[in-house]
Amino acid sequence: MPAPSPASYGPELEPRPVEEVDWLLLNADAVVTCDEAMRTIGVGAVAIQADRLAAVGPSEELARRYRGRRNLDLRGYLLMPGLVNTHTHAAMSCFRGLGDDLPLDRWLHEVIFPAERVSVTPEMVYWGTLLSCLEMLGNGITTFCDGYFFEESAALAARDAGMRAVLGQGILDHPTPDHPDPSTARTRAEAFLESFPDVGDRVRPSLFCHAPYTCGPSTLRWVKDLCRERDILFQVHVSETEWEARAIQEMYGMGPIPHLDVLGVWDDRTLAAHAVWIDGDDARLLADRGAAVSHNPSSNMKLASGVAPLPVLMEAGVTLGLGTDSCASNNGLDLFREMDLTAKLHKVSRLDPLACPARRVLRMATVGGAAALGWRGRIGSLEAGMKADLIALDIRQPHLTPMYDGASHLVYATRGSDVRYAWVDGRLLLEGGRFKETDAVRAMAEVRKMALTLAKRRGG
Ligand SMILES: [Zn+2]
Repeated sequence: MPAPSPASYGPELEPRPVEEVDWLLLNADAVVTCDEAMRTIGVGAVAIQADRLAAVGPSEELARRYRGRRNLDLRGYLLMPGLVNTHTHAAMSCFRGLGDDLPLDRWLHEVIFPAERVSVTPEMVYWGTLLSCLEMLGNGITTFCDGYFFEESAALAARDAGMRAVLGQGILDHPTPDHPDPSTARTRAEAFLESFPDVGDRVRPSLFCHAPYTCGPSTLRWVKDLCRERDILFQVHVSETEWEARAIQEMYGMGPIPHLDVLGVWDDRTLAAHAVWIDGDDARLLADRGAAVSHNPSSNMKLASGVAPLPVLMEAGVTLGLGTDSCASNNGLDLFREMDLTAKLHKVSRLDPLACPARRVLRMATVGGAAALGWRGRIGSLEAGMKADLIALDIRQPHLTPMYDGASHLVYATRGSDVRYAWVDGRLLLEGGRFKETDAVRAMAEVRKMALTLAKRRGG
């Protein structure tokens, strides 16, 4: 008798064997996948095996197919990808609220730079970054992109917190806390790359040229060349203020975006923070080169930098992520707040309620950010095969009741404090709102101690 053809095996004849996975998250009221179709699965589930998502789908189906070594009933919760913060200076949480409400130049020269001169050490960077990691994780951010000094210490903090991160060593043509002699900037950058702690692909090194007005053409060139050679992300603040755009125009006869283009800076491994003072030509140039932009509405508003032309960047097809910037110019690290602000700021500034739809903003905070940092197709959405970086929000709360549209709710109604669970690489880091791996009390105590010392020095 001939063997039956494979097509004759129906699921009812040959039931798929139940597969064992590390985690089975069942019965979530909604799974907002952030996949290409922006699918939301009602009463959904996620199966996690090691550091990957084994399956995402209806709860009933996954309950039949999988058996979890650990199970979690997420009735009353919404599951979504972990958020991606594309721009911050995590250690600056030590300066949260220091010298608020000053003009940018006075704030920088009278408050921040003097504070940095006396307080930025490897220990300060470690504890300040760790504190920020806890704040971000508690607010549902599982990946962040950083730029500061002594970034080896930031790498250790990201490792200890269990987060995914890109850590950019800051480079300026001026004395900085970790290279007081600017002529040693290159040696410092190379030493940073050589000694970057081996924490696997979850934590990656990067180089961060502060801005085109603090880094001359030769610095911008060698830093970008070094980034290319090592295949790492190049970061730069650009066109943040009107003053900067004018100064670069006067110095080089062109705006900051074409100036950096002449220097060969723009490609798909370059991330520009801010891009406020730009026009349509600039946006098209960035899109052509494949460069990404991090939009930071809170920081731009607090420092009165201006309103970035986000709809113009969107129309040009630029890769876009959202950022909090540092705690010194925000003063918190909550991307839910940034999503809400982004959607509303561009509507009101254009007098157009369709200018910046919620789904578009949600994609910026997830898949857009992932693409900007070089993790496209690996994080940012909930799909089988992606890294298991995800969060669960408690939606059984008055301010989230009722819920008609999960994606819209995430932009306009939720807060970072609604996040109760967070996994990175399949590892549970936040459980019921409590940090699993890190001593938050110790981190807060260390930063308070530093703040006290700084306050005394400033007072004296
Ligand atoms: Zn910044």
